[in-house]
Formats: sequence, structure tokens, C-alpha cells
Amino acid sequence: MIQYQSTRGSKNIKTAAQAVIQGIAEDKGLYVPDQIPALPKKIEELVGRPYKEVAFEIIGAFFTDYTKEEMKRCVDGAYDSKFEEAEIVPVTHAGGADFLELYHGKTAAFKDMALSILPYLLTTAMKKEKEDKKICILTATSGDTGKAALEGFADVPGTEIIVFFPNQGVSQVQERQMVTQEGDNTHVFAIEGNFDDAQTGVKKIFNDRDFAEKLSAMGCKLSSANSINIGRLVPQVAYYVYGYAKLVERGQIKAGDPVNIVVPTGNFGNILAAYYAGKMGIPVKKFICASNKNKVLTDFFNTGVYDINREFYLTNSPSMDILISSNLERLLYHLSGNDGEEISRLMTALEQEKKYEVGDKIREGLKDFYGGFATVEDTNETIGKMYRENGYLIDTHTAVAYKVYEDYVEETGDETPAIIASTASAYKFADSVAHSIGLGEESDGFAYVRALEKETGVRVPKALKDLDKKEIRHKGVIEISQMPEAVEESVK
Ligand SMILES: *Cc1c(COP(=O)(O)O)cnc(C)c1O
Repeated sequence: MIQYQSTRGSKNIKTAAQAVIQGIAEDKGLYVPDQIPALPKKIEELVGRPYKEVAFEIIGAFFTDYTKEEMKRCVDGAYDSKFEEAEIVPVTHAGGADFLELYHGKTAAFKDMALSILPYLLTTAMKKEKEDKKICILTATSGDTGKAALEGFADVPGTEIIVFFPNQGVSQVQERQMVTQEGDNTHVFAIEGNFDDAQTGVKKIFNDRDFAEKLSAMGCKLSSANSINIGRLVPQVAYYVYGYAKLVERGQIKAGDPVNIVVPTGNFGNILAAYYAGKMGIPVKKFICASNKNKVLTDFFNTGVYDINREFYLTNSPSMDILISSNLERLLYHLSGNDGEEISRLMTALEQEKKYEVGDKIREGLKDFYGGFATVEDTNETIGKMYRENGYLIDTHTAVAYKVYEDYVEETGDETPAIIASTASAYKFADSVAHSIGLGEESDGFAYVRALEKETGVRVPKALKDLDKKEIRHKGVIEISQMPEAVEESVK
């Protein structure tokens, strides 16, 4: 039986179902499994299996308090025809690497991989725990989580979903996707601030006991759809296992051979899931953590110092415009040998001094990671080159990953086969992608989608077709200080 404990050391042990409902721990820490389970089947037995079956095995190995029937229902409900590719996660070989295409779900970004199953995991958990309150999901988004959470939870009985995004901080397509969201239980607000402000605001609300009591009296319990929720993180482990098995199936590697995994990183959730896959038994040589110009993580992996006393940049990979990567806390906890006191100290330093430095023990564990970054210019060049040389269209985030991977190979000469997490459809960032492959100016984001389709012939995801003709349903722009009020109004 795997249990969940807080990264900050409180001894309040939870089942997976309880941790999924709660989202964040009472001591402000994040829930982590008390042990990482080994792969429940040999790699050879996972080769050739459909995505759903791999997901069932991997998520089931972590969430041991869910019965097999419950888990099967969650997985079957999540990974069905709402994905536009029958394989769910196609793996495409291009430019000497294998791209794990995680963006064929309802909102055309990898967040769909977890957010299409989270509502099932959560509503199952509510039944198991006999939770009678309405669950109110609060979400801060840098663009993609918000829409994926809205789609996942729209009209799910017993839930309200509230999303905060940075005004001017997301792409036009991303914004339009969110503000046109249908569903009686959906609420969307632009805030006057950046993603870190939104995330900090949401965390503050979670940690406000009085506010929680007030909501409780209104019949509401708060939870999170951000990757601080363990129910977001664990489903992501499955696709790394699936990707590895796919390379074995195609004869590119033999079971047991090492791979490198490259992840365009923001909040550190996706790459942490890769790390968990490694701990389960997928042989990974290096976890390559790719950042954009907001390169706090690159500096951290190079120096052991996490320092957010720096300028914040808006880039063309907005889902990675983040200085505080929440899930790094989970990695540090594991690397410290589950030392909650140490993590608590580091996180307090981050709050108060805006930086911390890790000790030798954690530093040793960081050697499995390589950090690199790409500028906006690098990103655009990489998209253009990939398209010209391989006819393969990648989005800005994936381009950051590929560029950092190229730098890594050049620096180290390490030719180990690489799996790159491809995190969004190029159409989500159509303006940048269109310019990168040499197309001219268009009037708005939607015109870029059409121009890109005309040039490349790549199918536009259903989610993005005719987006500009949809009714705008959410118009609120609020100050950061008004976030609690917005929550209260929404759940009334
Ligand atoms: C969220 C997101 C990322 C960053 O993922 P994390 O798990 O937050 O590190 C990268 N690319 C895209 C397209 C995203 O939506």
C-alpha cells in the first residue's frame, strides 16, 4: 500500500484518494508517495500494449487504494475518442530524436493527458471518502492548464472549476479557448499580474484557514487541478513508460537500454513525472530540463542555488514563463532522503529571501539532470530548421526542448536515444510558428492558424477550429487582491 505524505514533514499520512481531494497538504507542502513503486510488469510485457493499458498499470501502481475496477473506469473514461489520434500518444521520429506527441487531446496541449483523467480520479475519490461537499477546483494557469482543467471538469456533477490566468500573459488562442468555455460550473478570470502572481494567489487561498471555513459553511471544499495535485502528476508517468516501450517495439532500443528524456519545463511537473518513470525502472541516463529565457532551473542545475531575484520575461513559450517551479519541491524531498524539515527550511528561505542553496546530499542527486535554456531567437530558428529539414512542425515549447537537446549533444557527445516531450500543437502558438517557417504578417492569431494550415497541410486540432466564432462567456479582469472574492462569488 502506497501512502502519501507532505514534503514539509508533517506526519499527516493520506491515501491517494484523500491526497487527490485535498490537493495541497495542511503544512503547505505537496503530497508525495512514501515510495516510488517498481514497474508492475516487465518492460517486455508492456511493449505493444495500447496506451490505456499502460496507463492502467502505471497509475494503478501508485494509487493502490483504488480498486482495479475503479481504475479501469477512470482510464477508460479518460483516454477515449476525445483524443484525435487513436494511439492517444503518437511517437514521431524526426531530427534524430523521438517526439512523444502529448497534444492530441481536447485542448491541444499535454495538460490534457492528466486533466482528462483527474475528474474521474477525483469523483471516484469523493465516492470512496464519502465526501458530501461540492469540490471547488482552483487553478492558476500559464495558458494551457486552465483550458484543459475547464474541459475536464465542465459540467462534472459535484464540482465547480475556477481558473485564473495572467492578463496579457497567454497567447490569443489560449485566451480565447478559456473565455469561450461552456458549462454551468466554469468560471474564468484574467488577473492583473503574471503566472507566479496567480499561483501564489491560489496557494494563499489554500492556506487561509478562515477562508476555508467560510467556504465550508457554504458547502464547498477547495482542491487543485494544478500539478501540485498528485492526481495531476501520476497520470503523466504513464506516457514515459509508454514511449520507452514504443522505442523497444520499433527496435530502436532493446529493453534495458538507456534513453535520455528531454522536457520543456515550467512548473517542473512533467519532468518530475519522467523522474518517477525512471525510479520505477525505465533506464534513463539524463533528464534534460529545458527552459526558456526564464532560466532559473538552468542556473539551479549548474550551481545548486535557486534564485528568483531576477527579471521576469514574457516569451513566445508562455507556458514556461515561470520563476517558481512548484514541483521542484517534490524532487528535492526525494533527493534529501525524505527530509521534510530540510525542505521546509528551503521553502521558507524561498519565500523570505527569494532564494535558497541546497546541501551536498541533494546536490549529488541533481547530477542525473542537465539544465539548459533557449532564447526566443533560438526557438524560432529551431522551428524553422526542423520544418525545412524534416517537414515536421513543432510548437515553441517543444522547440525549446529540441534546441537544448542539440546543445546537450554538442556539449557532451552523448548520442543515447532521446525521447522529447512534445507538449503542444504548433497551432496553439500559430503566430510564432508561422513567422518561424517564413510566413508573413497576418491580422490576428486566428488568421495565423489558417495561414499555417494552408502552408503545411497539418490538420488543425478540432479544439482550435472556428474558435474566433465562439461566444465569449467570461469577461472578468480582476486585481490579485480580488481573487478570494472571485472564488466566493463563483461558488455561491
Ligand atoms: C505546462 C506546459 C509546459 C510546462 O510543463 P510543466 O509540467 O509545468 O513543467 C510546457 N509546455 C507546454 C505547452 C505546457 O502547456
